[in-house]
Amino acid sequence: MFNNKHKKYISIAIFVLLFVGMIYAVKVYLNRLDCSLRLQSLCSLMLVYHNEYNELPNHERWYDLLICEFALQDDFFKCPSCQKKGKIGTYFINKHLNSKWDGPGDLVFLFEGEFGWNQYGDANDILPLHSGGSHVLFLNGNVEFIKQEDFDKLIWTSSSNKTVDNETTGINIKGQSQ
Ligand SMILES: [Zn+2]
Repeated sequence: MFNNKHKKYISIAIFVLLFVGMIYAVKVYLNRLDCSLRLQSLCSLMLVYHNEYNELPNHERWYDLLICEFALQDDFFKCPSCQKKGKIGTYFINKHLNSKWDGPGDLVFLFEGEFGWNQYGDANDILPLHSGGSHVLFLNGNVEFIKQEDFDKLIWTSSSNKTVDNETTGINIKGQSQ
């Protein structure tokens, strides 16, 4: 049915498709890795800010306050998977957090959602910015990829008696109640 010339073209086409698929998979993987590291960096900056001022930045101005404090670029708050240009961010702070870094370690701290500026919100705002889910930074400093079907298992308010487990994360929070 196919002569050698056809087989050669089919082989090249399959190779190109596999190569393009591989490039796409690598790009998706790198975006996820970069996003996770971005949230980890934000955690470290939040910690420095909290230790300096003994409170978290105001939810309504948290991008602006961190930019001012640490001279960050405007796109620091944007997930690498977001193609939108301009002064926007996709990282939200949990609006139920206290001003102090205090609460259960598995409480949602930062998460991903729709683009905007100085984003804050809760379970109504989390979106799967990556295929199948999104990253969440918890109060204990851990960043995890949460599948969309598990969004409803996230903890948004400090109703738990558990405290931040800073021994396992190495987080040193000034003024934290023990
Ligand atoms: Zn992301």
